This record gives sequence, structure tokens and C-alpha cells, in this order.
Amino acid sequence: MTHLALPPPQARLVVLGAGPAGCLLALLAARAGWPVALLDRKSFPRPKVCGGCLAPGAIRALHQAQAAEVLARCHATPLRRLRLRVPGGELALPLPPSLAVERTALDDQLLQMACRAGVMWCPATSARVGQPISRGRVVHWHQPQGGSGTILAEAVAVACGLHTPGAGVAPPEFRLRAAKDSLLGVGVVSSCPAPRELRQGEVLMAVGEQGYVGLTVTGCGRLNAAAALQVRSVQQHGGPAAVVAQVLECCGLYLPQLQQLPWQGTPRLTRSVEPAASQRAFLLGDALGYLEPFTGQGIAVAYQQAVALWQVLRSGQEARERERRWIACSRRMMRAQRIRTGSLALALRHAGLVRRAVGVLNLCPVVAAALAHWIEQAV
Ligand SMILES: Cc1cc2nc3c(=O)[nH]c(=O)nc-3n(C[C@H](O)[C@H](O)[C@H](O)COP(=O)(O)OP(=O)(O)OC[C@H]3O[C@@H](n4cnc5c(N)ncnc54)[C@H](O)[C@@H]3O)c2cc1C
Repeated sequence: MTHLALPPPQARLVVLGAGPAGCLLALLAARAGWPVALLDRKSFPRPKVCGGCLAPGAIRALHQAQAAEVLARCHATPLRRLRLRVPGGELALPLPPSLAVERTALDDQLLQMACRAGVMWCPATSARVGQPISRGRVVHWHQPQGGSGTILAEAVAVACGLHTPGAGVAPPEFRLRAAKDSLLGVGVVSSCPAPRELRQGEVLMAVGEQGYVGLTVTGCGRLNAAAALQVRSVQQHGGPAAVVAQVLECCGLYLPQLQQLPWQGTPRLTRSVEPAASQRAFLLGDALGYLEPFTGQGIAVAYQQAVALWQVLRSGQEARERERRWIACSRRMMRAQRIRTGSLALALRHAGLVRRAVGVLNLCPVVAAALAHWIEQAV
């Protein structure tokens, strides 16, 4: 994959973060002939904490962006069933057409497509948004070898995921609100054998007092484990592996092999940032807000926001009007998702309630299917 050793001094669009949100936006803009610089603090392929489930909304957005060929290239395979495990019970729900993916491969394939479309790719380059200037915005960058500099951008898209703006990526005009009772995310992908209980095409989700753990088998036959856990429990146990083991064990699942693996973590998950745009800087994806991973909608939201933001940027309207449009549009997009994922996240804080719900839903499969459909409609 071709990349620039140093970022260019100017670009029409500078995108910070090459995850699903930033990379798809950069691809769309480059295809339209815009000079686009895409900066990420990591080199790719890079690991990313993720359950590896691609919801129908994500697949639709990739088709809409004519980028769906990445799915075959990263060996995505169909997911048909969610098995929700609680202490003493299990509920099996049909999934709407979803895919299991290896996140590292998915993001890398999309990046390769963006580079082929002409995106100026700058890996291992950390960036932050600087001062507004007339008809643009400054972006400051630095590289671990000691290089640093600035880019003059007509517009800046901030897609730095959960590290925004706590890490000083976005200036103080963007206010972060993080939930106090937020869980944190952990994950690992491994070649260690999947448990007997888990078959390809299924998501096995264990819900306990300290959080929940999701397991899938990827198209390459590897085990993907991801979890959202209480911060207090992780601190008490000196790391996530022991807490993951406890959640799994209380649901009757024993995977000692997971204990030895190099788990990766995220900051606290539940957050929102306002405003969504200001003075030619636009936030999208997790950088704009995130709830919890239970419904596996994060990539779908990121892709859909990339497509929607591109519609706003390309409109040719005056800068203020584009900012107003993105604030209104992103708010609308997130409202429906917040209601559904938010109410589910609240219910998941009460393991006893989830246990009773599993019992009831097992008796009423029609209601269970309607619930699964309601969640999917979030994006
Ligand atoms: C435990 C867990 C499980 C999940 N499971 C699923 C799932 O199964 N399905 C699903 O759809 N979603 C899932 N998600 C959510 C999903 O991973 C995110 O919503 C998605 O990655 C958001 O994409 P993004 O592009 O906004 O950010 P990211 O994918 O986080 O990308 C941000 C990029 O910005 C880069 N960056 C950060 N700071 C800087 C900087 N200063 N300068 C330059 N670059 C920077 C990072 O290196 C990174 O590459 C899960 C999340 C968690 C925590």
C-alpha cells in the first residue's frame, strides 16, 4: 500500500483516523477528485477491539458507497443466530442478515481501496485540530520519529474513535460528556480453539453482573472475543481476563485459554460530544458519540455517517450552512439509535432482569423476534 512519508502541506479535506468512519469518507471524497489526506496514529493493518459483527446497516452502507467488495476480500461469513446466555438459561434469536468479520482485515481492505482511489495515506501520524484560519482550518501532526508540521485544510473530519477529544484531538469548542457508569471495552482475536458450544454463524453472548462477553468464529476460523465490563471489576481483578472468565463461567462457559491472551482495551465507552461541527471541523463515528457494543451497530453508524457527511460536504454550500446541516443530520441519525441501544444498555445493568426476560422471551418467540427486529431498526 502506497503511503506518504510526510503529510502534504495542504489538502481540501483532511481526515483524522482511518477507522470505518474516516476511511469511507476519505474514499468517497477521493473518488470525486478531492485532494484528501488521511492520517492515523497507527500503521495498518492494526488490531481493534471489536466483536466482529457487521450489522445489516453496515452492509447496506458499503453497497451504497460501492465499496462492498471489501467484504469478500476480508472473508466475511454469514451470521444467522444470536445465543444469549444468562446464568441458568439461554435464548436463541434469529439475526437479520449479518456478517462475521475480522476487524483488522476489514479496515485494512477499505484503506487499500481508499489508497487506490487516490487518498494521500499518512500512517503512524498523530494529529489534532488547530486554529481556524480564513477559508480553512489548521491541522497539527507529529510522527514518533520526531517529525511534526501542519496542514492547511479546507475542511477537517475528526474520526479518531473513542480517543477524541479526551486526548486533545479536538479543541475545547467540542465538549465531551462521558457517562459515569460507563463500561469499558476489551477484546482479542486468537487462533485458540472455540468452545464446543459455539458454532460458525452464531454469536454467543454471555451476560453477567460485571458486564457481557460476545464470542464469534471469524471467516478465517479464529475466535473473536469482545466484552464490555464494569471499570470497578476490572480494577479489582487487575485486568480484564479474570472478569471475562467470571462472566463466562457464571453462564456455564469455561475457556481457560482466553486467560493467557493479550487483551486490548478501550477508554470508557458511553459518551457524546457537542457540537458535531464547528468552524470547518466535523466529527463523525465514535468520535461524535458511542453507547455500548451489545447490539453490534458501531461500524454501521460509522459507515452511515461517512456517507451522510460526504453528502453534506459535497453540497457546495457555504461553510456555516454545511456545519448547520451536519449538526442537524447527525443528531437525527443518533436519536433513534440512542433510544434503542440506550434502553437495552440500561436493562443489561440488571442481570436479574435479563435472566427473567430470557425466561419470558423463551415462552414467546414471536415477541423475541420482534425485539431483535426493533434493535436492528436502530440504524
Ligand atoms: C468491545 C467492543 C465490541 C464491539 N463490537 C462491535 C461489533 O461487533 N460490531 C460493530 O459494528 N461495532 C462494534 N463495536 C464498535 C466499533 O468498533 C466502533 O463503533 C467503530 O470502530 C467506530 O469506528 P470509527 O471509525 O468511528 O473509530 P475507530 O474504528 O476507533 O477508528 C479510529 C481511528 O483513529 C485513529 N486515531 C485515534 N487518535 C488519533 C489521532 N490523534 N490522530 C490520528 N489518528 C488517530 C485510531 O488509531 C483509529 O484507527 C465494538 C466496540 C467495542 C468497544
